[in-house]
Amino acid sequence: AKNAGRNQYQLYDAAMNARAAERLVLAGDLRKGLEREEFFLAYQPQVCLMTGRITGMEALIRWKHPERGLVSPAEFIPLAEETKLIIPIGEWVLRTACRQNKAWQDAGFPPVCVSVNLSACQFGQPNLVAMIKKILQETGLAPQYLNLEITESITMNNVERAIATMHEINDYGIGISIDDFGTGYSSLNYLKKFPIQTLKIDQSFVRDMTEEHHDVAIPTAIIAMAHSLKLKVIAEGVETEMQQQMLRERGCDEMQGYLISRPLPAPEFEELLHNLPAA
Ligand code: C2E
Ligand code: CA
Ligand code: CA
Ligand code: CA
Repeated sequence: AKNAGRNQYQLYDAAMNARAAERLVLAGDLRKGLEREEFFLAYQPQVCLMTGRITGMEALIRWKHPERGLVSPAEFIPLAEETKLIIPIGEWVLRTACRQNKAWQDAGFPPVCVSVNLSACQFGQPNLVAMIKKILQETGLAPQYLNLEITESITMNNVERAIATMHEINDYGIGISIDDFGTGYSSLNYLKKFPIQTLKIDQSFVRDMTEEHHDVAIPTAIIAMAHSLKLKVIAEGVETEMQQQMLRERGCDEMQGYLISRPLPAPEFEELLHNLPAA
């Protein structure tokens, strides 16, 4: 029995090593991916629940791996964060999203805001604000057409510094949203201190708003609280008419989800812009 136990540990070790090796390979691929231009952005519309008009779009990174095909950001973003590759990748995302949004404005589409996800480790970079300003100048996009999505985890290391950085971003005219709201634990403590404009209700809460569950307590509470703090609320992951209806009845401002559209590569998103009513 003792031996069997030890063998199990050895098997476990071997599996761990294989996983570690696999991640190492993927990390190397990530680095090359940036050079080989294997990344692209997909855009998902955000629409007003009252009017159905498009108010903005979220830029979401996609990786077309030469052998594996499309790799999910849920898989490679954590790895990019661990290896700090998220710094150059994140900068690429910002530049690409700003350039694309400016191109759409120049092409005559009504101006809307592009939302870009920032990871906590980007947020901790001392030159973050300078980098963002440089990109806006380079691309010519006006600051009010960029929005940054952050999660509560950015406050984990140094809350005061995180708030100071948010102020710098905000003072420059860039909006800030709290992403995945309700899944962190510091929410209510800090919310009042954050210079933010928008809360995004996490899709896990939207998913529970079904015929069977009727679990609307959390979205209802988030919407009421956000409005009392003068914040806009966007529901993510809206897939059904019923969820849309329930959110609308509760005064949620905007929505994002497959019901309207999946995230689309730029050319297909442009098609959608032709068809959706504009802001
Ligand atoms: P997120 O920021 O919460 O993005 C929302 C995710 O929900 C996206 O997954 C989107 O495709 C998906 N989604 C949108 N509508 C629906 C829906 O109706 N139903 C369902 N089931 N899902 C929906 P995606 O694109 O796979 O991204 C996953 C996560 O990866 C993002 O979550 C974000 O945390 C991260 N991520 C994506 N792009 C970037 C990026 O450029 N930078 C950083 N730092 N993180 C990113
Ligand atoms: Ca997001
Ligand atoms: Ca989210
Ligand atoms: Ca998420």
